[in-house]
Amino acid sequence: MKKLLLFITYTFMRINLIYAQDSQKILFDLALELNQNYHNYKVQRIDKRRFDYKEYHLVLDEIIERSAGNLSKEKVGESFKGEPIFKVKFGKGNVKILMWSQMHGDEPTASMAVLDLLKFLSSDKSITEELKEKISLYIVPILNPDGMKRYERRNYQEIDINRDALRLQTPEGKILKKLQEEIKPDFAFNLHDQYTNYSVGYTGKPAAISLLAPPFDMERRINDVRLRAIKVCVLIKEIIERFYGKYVARYDDEYEPRAFGDNFQKWGTSTILIESGGYFNDPEKQEIRKMNFLSFVCAIYGIANKIYESKDEQEYTLIPENKRLFFDLIIKNCKIEREGKTYLIDLGISASEKYDILRKRYINHYTITDLGDLSTHFAFDTLDGNYLTLELGKIYERVLTRYSQLKKLNLKKLLQSGYTCIIYQGRFNEIEENSLLDRMISTTKLPVREPRKLLNHSANLLLRDEKGIVKYCIVNGLVVKLK
Ligand SMILES: [Zn+2]
Repeated sequence: MKKLLLFITYTFMRINLIYAQDSQKILFDLALELNQNYHNYKVQRIDKRRFDYKEYHLVLDEIIERSAGNLSKEKVGESFKGEPIFKVKFGKGNVKILMWSQMHGDEPTASMAVLDLLKFLSSDKSITEELKEKISLYIVPILNPDGMKRYERRNYQEIDINRDALRLQTPEGKILKKLQEEIKPDFAFNLHDQYTNYSVGYTGKPAAISLLAPPFDMERRINDVRLRAIKVCVLIKEIIERFYGKYVARYDDEYEPRAFGDNFQKWGTSTILIESGGYFNDPEKQEIRKMNFLSFVCAIYGIANKIYESKDEQEYTLIPENKRLFFDLIIKNCKIEREGKTYLIDLGISASEKYDILRKRYINHYTITDLGDLSTHFAFDTLDGNYLTLELGKIYERVLTRYSQLKKLNLKKLLQSGYTCIIYQGRFNEIEENSLLDRMISTTKLPVREPRKLLNHSANLLLRDEKGIVKYCIVNGLVVKLK
């Protein structure tokens, strides 16, 4: 009898294991297919972070129209300024999933990926048929339309919606709370963007995606609800790492009693936070958008088929923490002279976007945000200063107002003479975006600063050798090597 019982238990475990392996393989095959054929799912019309709100909804409506009834859209309320907020629904299954994007108006990556997900779900593949029977998916794309239109984090009341889960003074927060109460989702996906200067622990890699199963109390205890979210995080991490490598970090898990993620977890919905960070050569975050898309489809499939259950929660604690150690550019080992003394520094340089009225577009301003020993930091680009002497670049003395004047300048000669910046207030039609000339131009006079001060100075710099010859120019963050 005992032997029979043992045999049955063993067989049962074997079947479970085989099932887990099988479904794991199906998941990876699915991910492979999504990765290879992403161009078929990507909604190309929205491909910049600052997309137009109306255009977004036009595209969304087209996807829904073509979905042959797979998708439906319903108004769930209005923003503070009266902009309608919608939820899109897919499927009629028992497992309920709620997703929302862009509750912070300047965090658009997931909103783009949500379109790709909906395009995928609108197709008549066998997998979408299967998902339709197993899950009910509710998506609120752009929860904060007022903030989105201004590309600002907060809503029109200047309240951070993600600190309003308790007081509920924002209409957007109220909508989210009401959806949680009405739908009672089993799972939720809270979709954000984070600064691009986060890294995957101390690994030297940027945190392209950071994941979190938010805590529901100060002690950060783990109950069944949070454990399910943790396991889904592990599933997502595995998918991204399979195609991209170790670009996934774990977001800070300090309890925030006013945040929605933490409260959803408390209210009984297994909640996963996905933060889109930075990645190489991805200023418009289109590669990270793809990572989001892969994560969404695989997580949904993994939830529908309970694949996440076999994931090891220890894997979650092994994900390196989000660390703020990343710059856009590091210049290492520069010599510097002050008060007749020479010493060694590294420079950390970061970009920030500002709207340029004359260019009629956003441009990056690169500034020195840290200096000293930065040997523990990382960057998208690194220049070894090789003990060359660092100096501030000079500003060309004449303010130019006509393109014909600009065209006559010999940029190479200017750089060799130590000029890294030209003040120009003319037309920009003929100037190529992000070219050396574009980088050299400032349309406003740069503030006069104490020459001693490097911190917060614009990254217009020179590196000279001992003979005084300029070897490198840094032109608004762009490294130019001179022969
Ligand atoms: Zn956010």
